[in-house]
Amino acid sequence: MSAEWFKADRAIMGTSIHVELWHSDKTTAENAIKHVFTEMRRIDALMSPFKKESELSLINHQATKQPLKISNELFNLIQQALKFSELSNGAFDITFASVGRLYDYRKKITPTAKELSENLNKINYKNIRLNKKNKTIFFTRAGTRIDLGGIAKGHAVDSAIRIVQQLGIKQAMISAGGDTRIMGDKNGRPWYVGIRHPRKKNASAVILPLSQTAISTSGDYERFFIKNNVRHHHIIKPGTGDSARELRSVSILGPNSTTTDALSTTVFILGLEAGMKLVASLTDIEAIIIDNNGQMHYSTGLQPAK
Ligand code: ADP
Ligand code: MG
Repeated sequence: MSAEWFKADRAIMGTSIHVELWHSDKTTAENAIKHVFTEMRRIDALMSPFKKESELSLINHQATKQPLKISNELFNLIQQALKFSELSNGAFDITFASVGRLYDYRKKITPTAKELSENLNKINYKNIRLNKKNKTIFFTRAGTRIDLGGIAKGHAVDSAIRIVQQLGIKQAMISAGGDTRIMGDKNGRPWYVGIRHPRKKNASAVILPLSQTAISTSGDYERFFIKNNVRHHHIIKPGTGDSARELRSVSILGPNSTTTDALSTTVFILGLEAGMKLVASLTDIEAIIIDNNGQMHYSTGLQPAK
């Protein structure tokens, strides 16, 4: 009997969700796919900065007033986000949104010099206080805003993988935009995952044979506009409140999507040298970086054998 593969796509969380999985039973497979989309919608409703009633919006409105009790799920994810801030000396910082919210990539709006000077000092992950016992969050500085755009999609993919696994699926690929997780292989063969060419539409810079892994890519071509010859995109350097411009694309390979999502954003901000140094210091993490000249760089674990 030939293998039964099932595929589906949906637009959720402002991105495209792709699910591909195998099961001998059609009903089980279709049910699993349905659950994936339901899970993505649930997480979007919880973490979207654009939905006024999301828990994230509630935090942004209330956590500067007094400690706010939040769900375990958001508490744990924010805790993980802070871990990546510590690891990168603040390159990854969810309070980037204190300035990041002043950009509008569709309307080509950047913050004014005045807005920038008034809000830049509100970017500091150390102003986030989590109380483990009470599961509360508190911002010690008024005007602090957080956004989980650099880690939430990875979390959603991990959560969806866990769900299909519980339904008896052993081989699957789930992706949310640039975050992909692969469970198992493709019946003895690898999956082929392309890293987008940062400057050529619909072209791949490289295609990787992968199984049982997660891969996330952060690029300066995802959400951007060009004004006066300057590319303004959605990955923000906490020190300047401006886009990070040393690299065009960073792909991270690792054991789960929450980690690879956060690290692709982190390494993008750190740049080639500091980014590769961080990657080398972590176990089970590899990177493919495309720099500003279009040059590709591979971390030590990915370099072809000589
Ligand atoms: P996407 O898959 O949306 O392109 P990335 O993984 O490349 O996401 O991360 C970009 C997102 O990360 C931005 O849209 C923003 O929400 C968030 N972000 C931007 N700058 C930072 C930062 N310094 N620290 C943490 N998150 C950030
Ligand atoms: Mg990311």
